[in-house]
Amino acid sequence: MVRLYATKVSDRVYLLDTFAVGQEETVAAYLIKGQKPALVDCGYASSHQSVLLGLSEVGVKPSDVRYLIPTHVHLDHAGAAGHLLREMPNAEVIAHERGVPHLVDPSRLIESATRVFGEAIMALYGRPIPIPPDRVTAVGEESSLDLGDGISASLVHTPGHAPHQISAMIEGTGALLTADAVGITYPNLKTLIPTTPPPSFDPALLASSVDSLRRMSPKQLLVPHYGVKNDPDQVFADTNRKVPEWVETVRSMIKRGMVLDDISEKMSEKVAAESGTSDLPIYAKVSVRASVMGIIHYLSKNP
Ligand SMILES: [Zn+2]
Repeated sequence: MVRLYATKVSDRVYLLDTFAVGQEETVAAYLIKGQKPALVDCGYASSHQSVLLGLSEVGVKPSDVRYLIPTHVHLDHAGAAGHLLREMPNAEVIAHERGVPHLVDPSRLIESATRVFGEAIMALYGRPIPIPPDRVTAVGEESSLDLGDGISASLVHTPGHAPHQISAMIEGTGALLTADAVGITYPNLKTLIPTTPPPSFDPALLASSVDSLRRMSPKQLLVPHYGVKNDPDQVFADTNRKVPEWVETVRSMIKRGMVLDDISEKMSEKVAAESGTSDLPIYAKVSVRASVMGIIHYLSKNP
């Protein structure tokens, strides 16, 4: 079977499937192809060759890329950044100021991810490598990035999933790159899975980030997990409904004495039932488990 890495979203925007751990349609990156091409997110370290193949499918050479914008420093969004930069001599990394230290020195990030996912899964994800500090520009609450050809992106801080997360509106198009401010909707599952991982998930911040994105009135959401959504209000509403629902469900399971493994199992069963399937694919179970871990961690600090 021939793999297709790039899908055209609109005139200037392409979805690149990073084939995370060999799995299609789970982790997307997006290319904004103006005079100064910008790559938003880039997948796991182990996906960096897939990203390069996606770029070549749309006629962008690594040396053409001017901006590499990891929406946040989690491994599925920024893991490949250092590896790609080695091939992209003209690219500048743009990231939220709270994420920059982890891009320059990923050691704590690797430790934290290893605690969450374990050594075996980490080996599949691959390890990020440090990004030279002189190639990173930090952004704060709001900024604008000129991509040439009359295209610009507004970058906004959207904490809650992670404190170092930004989302990006492509001005004049209605297309919004949400990052993980909205839940996971895998194309072959019918339901939304909240994305609430440790160590910094914060439900109140997440809800206010969702509201601020909603107020930008996007027509189209470009979601990392996964794909183009033409019903933004539905995705925002589902996210804001399901996150508190999961927090309360996990809270009551903890009260009944359940621990991580049992709670993850139960939540996976719930997601499977909502999707009308008897069993979830492994990548969805990994997502559910990470989200349950994040909620347990949050509740341990905010009982
Ligand atoms: Zn993610």
